[in-house]
Amino acid sequence: MLHHLPILSPDPIWGLTAEFQADPRPEKIDLIVGVYRDETGQTPTLNVVKEAERQLAATAGSKAYRPLAGNAAFNASMTRLLLGDGASSLERAATIQTVGGTGALRLLGDFIKLAQPEATVWTTDPGYINHRPIFEAAGLHVRDYHWRQQAEGIDVELAFNSLADARPGDVLLIHGCCHNPSGIDPSAEDWAEIAAFCAKRDVVPLIDIAYLGFGLGLDEDAAGLRHLVEALPLVLCAASCSKNMGLYCDRLGAAMIVAPNSGVLANTTRNLENLGRTNYSMPPEHAAAVANIVFSAKDQWAAELAAIRNRVSSLRTTFCDTLESIGAPASFQALRQHKGMFSILPLSPAQMQRLRAEHGIYGSNTGRVNIAGLRAADIPMVADAIVKVAAY
Ligand code: PLP
Repeated sequence: MLHHLPILSPDPIWGLTAEFQADPRPEKIDLIVGVYRDETGQTPTLNVVKEAERQLAATAGSKAYRPLAGNAAFNASMTRLLLGDGASSLERAATIQTVGGTGALRLLGDFIKLAQPEATVWTTDPGYINHRPIFEAAGLHVRDYHWRQQAEGIDVELAFNSLADARPGDVLLIHGCCHNPSGIDPSAEDWAEIAAFCAKRDVVPLIDIAYLGFGLGLDEDAAGLRHLVEALPLVLCAASCSKNMGLYCDRLGAAMIVAPNSGVLANTTRNLENLGRTNYSMPPEHAAAVANIVFSAKDQWAAELAAIRNRVSSLRTTFCDTLESIGAPASFQALRQHKGMFSILPLSPAQMQRLRAEHGIYGSNTGRVNIAGLRAADIPMVADAIVKVAAY
């Protein structure tokens, strides 16, 4: 059996991380993987999460099996977080707890394959490295559409032109905020145009929202999703608690379907549950129980999240100021506007390799860097190295 397996090279991101770990230079800098890092280079556990874990340890609840949809209170709180307290759309939403944002994407991929097997899923170019593999693994066709910056938002005309072949029932995957890898987010006007496009072409949006709270705030970052939900009969959403609760390895997320009416919700949920049942049966309880306590201390959570967001945004500003002050090409100033942790440096793969080889600065060959991997003290050195490799 095993000799029939395809021969695979290491995953590009994890392979590069292994290369970073093997690099003996003490001054090396890791801007590869998409996790938040603080000024000491650590990925901290939020205080609100530590407190929740203490409470859970003290009560030591039962580990008996949970329902197939996971933790019902978590599902209800996630739905409110995504759609807004008191939103009328809450009435027509079905949400099920998933194994991280990835689990939500795959569950929705399986759901699309079941409900609309010939659908093409349209993913952004550039895009998240795992989108295409997830939807192809679900047996769906995947094609790309262009995602480029224009003024305060994205170039919607270019995006729509590249969607010329989209057919009714196809799925348009959009990053809800903090686009990975480009950091380019739609403006409010762009979201309105996206909604009009989906309505006109009968295309179903799937919002992947893995960085809620990392752009402008918990409500602000959900504005695009909420606009689509108000404007369209059907919206799919994959949400992650990995980054905004720092629960990365505890694997918590949610798949939400906002349906045309509440009458179809019970059967929609049963289908989602059934897809999970044949895979992992039910999602793990622990992180959902933590999240419920975090939701009950929402002000503290929002404050900790704001500190994270402000650190990344101040690093971004200092980085751009420094690049400008030492004469880096003007194209680097586009980074100022980006939201969240990522940006694509306007450098070629060869220049990214030189950054690694000559300066010990590790980003992906595509130019993607995680701004949160910078420490303020590193910025002059990183900016200087970038100017050197950008020169030839
Ligand atoms: N979607 C995007 C755009 C991401 O960047 C990520 C993680 O990096 C995910 C989904 C998956 O998140 P999770 O770690 O919760 O599976």
